[in-house]
Amino acid sequence: MVVAQSVAALVSYVARCAIISPDDRTWAYNRLLSALRKTGPAPAWDTVDMEGFDLEAVMAQLSAAGVEAGMDEDTPSGHDRIETELMGLLLGRPSTINKRFHELRQTEGPQAATDWFYRLCCDARYVREAAIAKNVSWTTPTAWGDLEITINLSKPEKDPEAIAAAGKALVGAQYPACHLCVENEGYYGRGAGAAFGAHPARQNLRVVPIELGQEPWGFQYSPYAYFEEHCIAMSAEHRPMVVSRANIARLFDFVDLFPHYFVGSNADLPIVGGSILSHDHFQGGRHEFPMMRAQADATVELPGFSRVTCEVLRWPISVLRMCSTNRSELLDAACYVTRVWRTWNDQEVGIVAYSPDGTPHNTVTPVVRKHEGVYELYLALRCNVTTAEHPLGVFHPHEDKWHVKKENIGLIEVMGMAILPPRLLDELGAGTLTRNEIGQVFAGVLEDAGVFKWDDGGRAAFERFLQSL
Ligand SMILES: [Zn+2]
Repeated sequence: MVVAQSVAALVSYVARCAIISPDDRTWAYNRLLSALRKTGPAPAWDTVDMEGFDLEAVMAQLSAAGVEAGMDEDTPSGHDRIETELMGLLLGRPSTINKRFHELRQTEGPQAATDWFYRLCCDARYVREAAIAKNVSWTTPTAWGDLEITINLSKPEKDPEAIAAAGKALVGAQYPACHLCVENEGYYGRGAGAAFGAHPARQNLRVVPIELGQEPWGFQYSPYAYFEEHCIAMSAEHRPMVVSRANIARLFDFVDLFPHYFVGSNADLPIVGGSILSHDHFQGGRHEFPMMRAQADATVELPGFSRVTCEVLRWPISVLRMCSTNRSELLDAACYVTRVWRTWNDQEVGIVAYSPDGTPHNTVTPVVRKHEGVYELYLALRCNVTTAEHPLGVFHPHEDKWHVKKENIGLIEVMGMAILPPRLLDELGAGTLTRNEIGQVFAGVLEDAGVFKWDDGGRAAFERFLQSL
């Protein structure tokens, strides 16, 4: 009885969110009861009590009922798969959602389309708003302006039996090949004990197909967003990340499709690359990052690119901001600077383009947005060289800052937003660190990651590079 009431409440909720039509409520009620192997009284839709409806509490009740019915194991990820499965049963098919998205885009514009799709992904609990709300965020004034700090408390804890996955016989190819593959759409997910280990439940994932650089790509939102409308564009093909002319052109395609979003790519080398290097993808969203508010320290003449303005930003990471209304000339300029940077050596400041065995070390983190009708492209110069003194990376957080950040400085951090682990909340609670101290250490982390430091030697080295352009 209690389960049937929760099912009726969930159905009323999805009808209220327009995930289903009111005409589909009885069908949806039976669909959920069937999955849960339960039966219930005929619901009286007009009298379902939605006062104080708590989606998370209802989902927890239903996943407990699902475990009881033998739908999945009694672990956090088992509960999650059941909850996601139930929502996936109610959510429209990809083709229906794509059709609506593209209709809205054509008739009311890109922002109306993303507004609708984002709301849908939140309502369908793909974007985990309740979990995201647990994150602790603040800004800290530093020498580089206000930096944004987020302690990430939203990602689920790993199942205790994660270790059990080790030693499992692996037969055949992993499916889906990674977390970003378009084949995740509707995928049931796996626990830690399964062959190939844990994989998140994706029954309520919907991917909108878009075209970038005459290729099929997918567009989706990030379930554990760090900022407003944090989205991901991923190649329909599972292939490695690369910062190439074709992909920088795709960043422009993306902001032409969604002019109200920024988009960027992580660097394509280890240490300085952020997230998953195995799948070609971008991250974007509707947020203005501290880097985008940074002042210009100097302007740079780029011979041959008269319609592109180029500035050195006053920013701890070495970033060039290049602007133009002429997309093709800006693309040419960005590729030119990237090509020169990839082969740039400067012994005085430790920049090494290639190891003797030919391993490349220099790359860029590119970010594009449209600002007041002008294309703005940010090229963060990166180098992943290591030394005996800095075995994790010369331009990587140094050891004196590892108590705050030891991980790679990826796209989001380059732009001035720190994503920090939950243990820092304990340190704040214990008073061993203050919020201001954490922000100042993060500023230092970004300084470590900058290839040209803000001292006389670093500025002279930057000047040598700029002169070579
Ligand atoms: Zn993949």
